[in-house]
Amino acid sequence: MKKETQIVSLGRDKKWTKGVVNPPVFRASTMLFETMEEMRFASKNKTNGEMFYGRRGGPTHFAFQAAIAELEGGVGTALYPSGSAAISGCLLSFLKAGDHLLMVDNAYEPTRALCDGLLAGFGVETTYYDPLIGAGIKDLIQENTKVLFLESPGSVTMEIQDVPTLSQIAHDHNMIVMLDNTWASPINSRPFEMGVDISIQAATKYIVGHSDVMMGTATSNEKHWEQLRENSYLMGQCTSPDDVYLASRGLRTLSVRMNQHEKNALKVANWLATRPEVDHLRHPAFETCPGHEFFKRDFSASNGLFSFVLKEGNVKSVTALVENMHHFKMGFSWGGYESLILPVFGIEKLRTVTNWDSKKPLVRVHIGLENVDDLIADLEAGFERFNAAL
Ligand SMILES: *Cc1c(COP(=O)(O)O)cnc(C)c1O
Repeated sequence: MKKETQIVSLGRDKKWTKGVVNPPVFRASTMLFETMEEMRFASKNKTNGEMFYGRRGGPTHFAFQAAIAELEGGVGTALYPSGSAAISGCLLSFLKAGDHLLMVDNAYEPTRALCDGLLAGFGVETTYYDPLIGAGIKDLIQENTKVLFLESPGSVTMEIQDVPTLSQIAHDHNMIVMLDNTWASPINSRPFEMGVDISIQAATKYIVGHSDVMMGTATSNEKHWEQLRENSYLMGQCTSPDDVYLASRGLRTLSVRMNQHEKNALKVANWLATRPEVDHLRHPAFETCPGHEFFKRDFSASNGLFSFVLKEGNVKSVTALVENMHHFKMGFSWGGYESLILPVFGIEKLRTVTNWDSKKPLVRVHIGLENVDDLIADLEAGFERFNAAL
């Protein structure tokens, strides 16, 4: 079955929906038991999609968790109140004092800050690695290396990793492979077929798709599911059924939205590639994006998020470009239906093992569902302001 077909009905189990189309919002903390036998049954089945206690979720959660687990290709999905909570939840569930972590150099900024702050304080040592290191990762593995963390494409600079090669080497050394798979969403790659053990989504982005809910998911294979689920439970990670309802609703239209984001973004990117101000595109579907060959091999499609690098510019000229846009609004996050623009300065300070030319400004865009001609006109006017301010 194709993923477009799957997402229409995944998780729609009568046990949870009582026969309606959308799994309803089921608000609950306390399950009431009439007999000792019922209570014993619930305790024994507390992880089998039976209501036990609110923190383990209810029918709204179970339906969504089943859908994400199946789409990602794992056996179970833990839910978190944000994508960042999913990342910290996964790392804290598997790392302890004295362990060593290999973290990709272009990781989402708060992921880096977590490693350098909280994890370092707990006695977990982090080594950053070049996203294009491939088989060279071997040389960085120590006796105490426990986790290999990937993000592909990585944040802002968009390098794509050779996930199967990296996973294979990590498994040869008994390590756990975690992937921040947010860019692919659950429909544009097959993380578990590439050897990933735990696939993380900032559901806040494309799954929710409407910029109104924070949520994270972590989907595990059989081997690590129990440890992930139980440690997340012990850390008290849970989500409201209202938020999960909105995420489930977003999921149903994920494939049509993604198709349109991709189509619009490719048109804008092709136009940007002709602009004299643009040095190169950091769009995974373009050859100028480092690791493009892995995009072609491992992803089924791109989406609305990419960056472009300018030949020259400074804070003043880039500010002139991004301010006063009609359709592109400035903001963090991405994955909603709206277009966003984000100038990123100081990338060289966020990388420790890869180089970045600080003289060339980078702008990240998220291409939304607006008419693409309007978006291009908006950028064109932006470049006029940019050139006037150079
Ligand atoms: C946004 C994002 C996150 C964090 O998700 P939040 O829900 O904002 O906490 C993690 N990874 C990537 C790649 C992201 O873009």
